[in-house]
Amino acid sequence: MRILVTGGAGFLGSHICERLLSAGEEVICMDNYFTGRKDNILHLMDNKRFELVRHDVVDPFKFEVDQIYNMACPASPVHYQYNPIKTTKTSVVGAINCLGLAKRTNARILQASTSEIYGDPSIHPQPEEYWGNVHTLGPRACYDEGKRVAETLFMDYNRQNGVDTRIVRIFNTYGPRMLPDDGRVVSNFIVQALKGEDLTIYGDGLQTRSFCYVDDLVEAILRTMSQVETNLPINIGNPGEFTMIELAKKVIQLTNTSSKLIHEDLPMDDPKQRQPDIKKAKEVLEWEPKIDLETGLTKTIEYFKSQI
Ligand code: NAD
Ligand code: UDP
Repeated sequence: MRILVTGGAGFLGSHICERLLSAGEEVICMDNYFTGRKDNILHLMDNKRFELVRHDVVDPFKFEVDQIYNMACPASPVHYQYNPIKTTKTSVVGAINCLGLAKRTNARILQASTSEIYGDPSIHPQPEEYWGNVHTLGPRACYDEGKRVAETLFMDYNRQNGVDTRIVRIFNTYGPRMLPDDGRVVSNFIVQALKGEDLTIYGDGLQTRSFCYVDDLVEAILRTMSQVETNLPINIGNPGEFTMIELAKKVIQLTNTSSKLIHEDLPMDDPKQRQPDIKKAKEVLEWEPKIDLETGLTKTIEYFKSQI
């Protein structure tokens, strides 16, 4: 198959390109390098089945493809809030462009949605049936609402035009190829610990997140694309739930650093808790994460040691 991966030079996109190539597929990687980089896919450049295209998903494009993974969008709050109007355009116009291409070429298409569509959730853990609690006017709305509209578009292209759509709702994922200055908590803590700097806890540090290692996540994404049971969203993440203080202490222990914890202001609308209900992923994909936090952090620490 010929497969388009938008955002293919980013953290998750580059791992998807790699997996697809090793399965014998032909891959077109499209990226505007906002948060992605050529370094992430440099090792794929010699492969004759790999093609790299510098392009913005917001601008129209034409390819002949069998499948599309729409991964293009900055994922770190720091990066998606840098130019919030562009973030919404990337999610919404990018989804329309990808869906139009899928409609014309009869390609199956997968949307990288997010746990952020649940906002600051009032139900815990979050099942796919939960409609969410998003502040439509806040600083995270450009991302949350953009991703919500993208889900709506995927469902409507499926119902109205018969496009073969898939949606994954990704919960916090970490691992090698995150940018050292990505701004998300796992990379921040590891980079700070390795540099001997204090770890920045936003707020009281009692907010929780569930962290999934990238290899587990990519496996679930590929399985979602392959299955033919449902077009409805599937949560993907690791249900292990940790406070930011617990995460920081684990990073300090694994890096053997003398760094301390310091508290900084909690960003506005920061969700208090996050945990995926992965019953559906277990049933439909016969998948559950295999890599626990300590193992995943150890691999990620090794990666950042080679980067810093
Ligand atoms: P990332 O920032 O590393 O990757 C995003 C990629 O998209 C980058 O290569 C970037 O340059 C590219 N991009 C951004 N805007 C673009 C545009 N307008 N045109 C073309 N390319 C563009 O982030 P990631 O963690 O790899 O996330 C990938 C996808 O998964 C995103 O859609 C994100 O919303 C989603 N997601 C990720 C997580 C996570 O924890 N990693 C959680 C939920 C959802
Ligand atoms: N966070 C933190 N210190 C940091 C970066 C983030 O305490 O240096 C907190 C942030 O406030 C949030 C959690 O870690 O509560 C996860 O943040 P991240 O940006 O990784 O992802 P989010 O799930 O909020 O999109």
